[in-house]
Amino acid sequence: MLRDFEHLAPKTLEEALTLLDEHQDECKVIAGGQSLLILMRQGLLAPEYLIDIKGVSELNYIESDAKQGLRIGALTTHRAIEKSPAMKNGFGVLAEMEHRLASIQTRNWGTIGGNICHGDPAGDPAPVLIALNATLSTASLGGTRNMAVEDFSLDFFETALEPGELLTEIQVPAAPPHTGTAHTKFNIIESDVATVGVAVSFTLDSGDGVCRDARIVLGACAPIPMRAKQAEEALRGKKITDRLLKEAGQKASEEAEAVSDISASEEYRRQLVKVLVGRMGKEALARAKQA
Ligand SMILES: Cc1cc2nc3c(=O)[nH]c(=O)nc-3n(C[C@H](O)[C@H](O)[C@H](O)COP(=O)(O)OP(=O)(O)OC[C@H]3O[C@@H](n4cnc5c(N)ncnc54)[C@H](O)[C@@H]3O)c2cc1C
Repeated sequence: MLRDFEHLAPKTLEEALTLLDEHQDECKVIAGGQSLLILMRQGLLAPEYLIDIKGVSELNYIESDAKQGLRIGALTTHRAIEKSPAMKNGFGVLAEMEHRLASIQTRNWGTIGGNICHGDPAGDPAPVLIALNATLSTASLGGTRNMAVEDFSLDFFETALEPGELLTEIQVPAAPPHTGTAHTKFNIIESDVATVGVAVSFTLDSGDGVCRDARIVLGACAPIPMRAKQAEEALRGKKITDRLLKEAGQKASEEAEAVSDISASEEYRRQLVKVLVGRMGKEALARAKQA
């Protein structure tokens, strides 16, 4: 059952930050409420004040620039990203990921910012954003901070957000030429978070097709979304073949910090990583060759 709370509904970022500063220890920020309300209903959180930022329209936007890439306001819904024409300009993998995230009802109301701030290592957006080398911005009354999405998750459901701070924007840089990115997740319950998520991005040299950069990111395989750096290293500087992808899948499955839980055993997760890294590697390679 929900405990009583006071509902505060700022309309501007400035108002939201002021309220957040006033009620720091006694408040929680709510955006779409798709994750927060579950924790409140379970009695795991009982804030005295809910600062409802859903009406802060200045944080709800998608801006696209051919050179700079995408800027996505923290309050943009999953559905808006899934349906945005801006995703057609090299960010199709973001729309694909959003299309498989939860149900339409959840996507219509849940926000990309709320998903990242929730800090669930099984969440879908973070692995894709990390594969795309995305950054984010936060704001507080004290100023703004910028960091890589990769550095934002610190531990299981714990992020780098400081008291009084809001996530305001996610930036996805335009991909270098000959870059391809692919993402998939294996989930036991349809429309639910990943049992294992895998995002792979390759950038190839234009002439000989050698792999200049590789980013392989695993979801639900560690307390935070993790890069499989040994697997990436196995591919960088080489011409990617089926044999090398198999080797990368094996390395990723070994370096995953997989655990057993209600969804899957550790062994099963490692097997999924091995198979899905190979599959997404093939897909990312095909896309990079066409890009
Ligand atoms: C049935 C169901 C299925 C789901 N399936 C999936 C799935 O398949 N894949 C997946 O990735 N997720 C899934 N989710 C999770 C969900 O999609 C996201 O976690 C949700 O969209 C979070 O966004 P929100 O706006 O609702 O955040 P809220 O629930 O409002 O907030 C989540 C957390 O983030 C904080 N917060 C929110 N916005 C900000 C901000 N701008 N700055 C600072 N802190 C902020 C809140 O204080 C809270 O701690 C599912 C959820 C449900 C209910």
